[in-house]
Amino acid sequence: MANSKFEYVKQFEQPDNLLPNTWVVVRIDGRGFTKFANKYGFEKPNDKRALELMNAAARAVMAELPDITIGYGVSDEYSFVFHKTCSLFERRSSKLVSTIVSTFTAYYVHFWSTYFPETPLSPPLPSFDGRAVCYPTVQNLRDYMSWRQVDCHINNLYNTTFWALIHLGGMDATEAEKTLKGTYAADKNEILFSRFGVNYNNEPEMCKKGSVVFRDYELVEPGTHNTTIEVDTFAEPVQQSKTQVENDKKRRAKARIVVEHLDIIKDEFWDRRPWLLS
Ligand code: ATP
Ligand code: ATP
Ligand code: MG
Ligand code: MG
Ligand code: MG
Ligand code: MG
Repeated sequence: MANSKFEYVKQFEQPDNLLPNTWVVVRIDGRGFTKFANKYGFEKPNDKRALELMNAAARAVMAELPDITIGYGVSDEYSFVFHKTCSLFERRSSKLVSTIVSTFTAYYVHFWSTYFPETPLSPPLPSFDGRAVCYPTVQNLRDYMSWRQVDCHINNLYNTTFWALIHLGGMDATEAEKTLKGTYAADKNEILFSRFGVNYNNEPEMCKKGSVVFRDYELVEPGTHNTTIEVDTFAEPVQQSKTQVENDKKRRAKARIVVEHLDIIKDEFWDRRPWLLS
């Protein structure tokens, strides 16, 4: 590499490596999607095409970045989890975030015409912001995932009731908002059921639970996985053999990436897929 008098500027770059041995979550979110949804006539409260497009882009991101363990998406956002041992880009935050954001955006645009064949994209084009956050424990990571899924539930119950009041109840937005002010979940369920005969439980799983994207290995039967090994805290870390690492990598690359709409708050999802957090 040639030296030049200009090269000193490189020293202005600040290191941004993320804390080692922590779970890294990169969350991206559509920029100005309230407006974007209006422009392309997204159905309210939930446009299935738009959600499936998000899921298709997320699958593509996971296929291109095998270091991602699991993804969770709702509305115009997606969270991607890197395993705590991940060393991609030396864990540099800006590299991880920008790669995910641009890969996701590229596929969102690429797949657009599949999901919206009748409405071609025109500027301003969709874009996403992103951030990376480190979670030191599995519990913190699980709480993060639970936080997003609870948010999905709260928003979806609100939006479903809000749009029922408008579409089925003939209210305008201001009246609907006023009707829902100060209501609890039980009140919204009751409004949906008694006024409109809508049982919230029968709403689509994708809207109620969001979308979980992960590599599909063999499921572990409940109750058979609890063979925890006593670990000597002061022992040298167990080194996986090179072939084992290679085999793991191959298995990961080959595994089918699936999108499902499951409860990720309860233990069952994680208990049956111990490879996600191990
Ligand atoms: P920001 O740039 O700050 O993120 P935003 O307008 O994108 O602003 P969000 O809080 O991210 O605000 O909200 C996302 C918006 O996109 C909401 O208004 C939501 O209704 C809309 N939206 C996203 N996905 C869908 C969908 N599948 N169907 C209908 N509306 C959607
Ligand atoms: P990394 O992911 O680390 O950036 P890279 O392969 O992209 O890896 P760069 O240092 O960014 O490595 O180099 C860019 C590469 O793309 C070079 O090999 C360069 O020759 C090639 N390249 C980029 N633009 C052009 C172009 N317009 N014509 C020919 N080659 C190009
Ligand atoms: Mg935002
Ligand atoms: Mg947004
Ligand atoms: Mg959002
Ligand atoms: Mg390059």
